[in-house]
Amino acid sequence: MRRIPEPFRIKMVEPIRTSTVQHRRAALREAGNNPFLLRSDDIYIDLLSDSGTGAMSDRQWAAIMLGDESYAGSRSYHHLAESVHSLFGYSHFVPTHQGRAAENILFSALAQRMRARGESGRPIFLSNYHFDTTAAHVELNGCRPVNVVTDAAFDTGSDHAWKGNFDIGRLEEEIVGNGAENIAAIVVTITCNSVGGQPVSMENMRAVYEIARRYGITVVIDAARFAENAWFIKHREEGFSEKSVADIVKEMFQYGDVMTLSAKKNGLVNIGGLCCFREDTPLYQDVRIRCVAFEGFITYGGLAGRDLAALAIGLHEGVDEAFLTYHIAQVGYLGERLVRAGVPIQRPIGGHAVFVDAKALAPHIPAASFPAQAVTNALYLEGGIRAVEIGSLMMGRDPATGRQKPSPLELVRLAIPRRVYSNDQLDYVADCLIAVAGRADELKGLSFSYEPPVLRHFLARFDEVF
Ligand SMILES: *Cc1c(COP(=O)(O)O)cnc(C)c1O
Repeated sequence: MRRIPEPFRIKMVEPIRTSTVQHRRAALREAGNNPFLLRSDDIYIDLLSDSGTGAMSDRQWAAIMLGDESYAGSRSYHHLAESVHSLFGYSHFVPTHQGRAAENILFSALAQRMRARGESGRPIFLSNYHFDTTAAHVELNGCRPVNVVTDAAFDTGSDHAWKGNFDIGRLEEEIVGNGAENIAAIVVTITCNSVGGQPVSMENMRAVYEIARRYGITVVIDAARFAENAWFIKHREEGFSEKSVADIVKEMFQYGDVMTLSAKKNGLVNIGGLCCFREDTPLYQDVRIRCVAFEGFITYGGLAGRDLAALAIGLHEGVDEAFLTYHIAQVGYLGERLVRAGVPIQRPIGGHAVFVDAKALAPHIPAASFPAQAVTNALYLEGGIRAVEIGSLMMGRDPATGRQKPSPLELVRLAIPRRVYSNDQLDYVADCLIAVAGRADELKGLSFSYEPPVLRHFLARFDEVF
């Protein structure tokens, strides 16, 4: 396959440094064997997250200088409003400081609406797969998150094109079984981060929306990687190859009522979020009030005017097809190198990250000893590369029983920041990971020396199990 070169040239550089393995060993020990607790200075290539880690364009930096810091009615807010209306076709919105802040003000309003209706019991949110902060907001509001993603998602070796899809049969079973009146909302996560950045087809989004209409349930699109999802629809779904990504984006958002967006991914900014509504509804009015209380006035939502200005441009750059093709091809390039070397990864390769199947790579480490964390740590020691565990550790315990929730997958995520690393740097990542895979049978599992009660993967500390 011919490599797709970058559709930009470099105007400013940020030096990064390699280190010795002795240095990394000491740094990882200091960090309690948890890469979240490393200092970035001790990292060479940082693939911890693609969230807020991208590089802004010269146009975005220029817009930062033009940001209007007025408390209310800022010009930068109106620039952002134009981008939101023209890209998504949603008429009403509030900015927020990031995606989870949009979840906070929306999900608390949705839960309140359920209580006001006098429904007893714990309302349910149905999703293809709740992102971790999304699930946390559901639970913090006394509701229960239920995932109904297609079973194909858990067969990492299969090349199913739409592993982010809802299992439509199970979605309807959950609605009927629990009673539509007990469903707070359906959350459509595009792309489906937690199962490997896998896309949801337009056909599936349409089917979910039709069911939701039939039962009178609100559809929330969790849109962090909306542009990548649209790119996959264009290139994989019949009938879309001639449409522009921008047109596909518009069509996708017709199959939702509300959207929450972490602008730190496809919005190409370092901070920011949105909560958008197709029309003015009582729910929108509730969210506006919560925005003022939790985020700030409705025309800045916890952001500086300059952040709004950068986002107004980033949203458009995020759907640029040359950029998307380059970015998704870059992720694919790293993935293909690993496949060729026999490293097991989630197939097909997703839009923002490569996910290594640690269960297949280190089958001698039981789930309770966190095989994906062991591989992540070995990769850091090998080459100063930071990845992240997405498996049993992140899954955590059932708050009701205190028992470890079973995780269908044990993945190491290599997230690729947008417009940041070169393919040469990714070749180095592949070389290091292939070296680790070559001695995977020597890796040791981990046990907690400190386990935080919630969201434990961020702050936990570990000992190696001998
Ligand atoms: C990142 C993300 C969020 C949360 O957004 P933040 O900006 O990190 O607060 C929610 N949902 C999905 C799918 C995400 O990827």
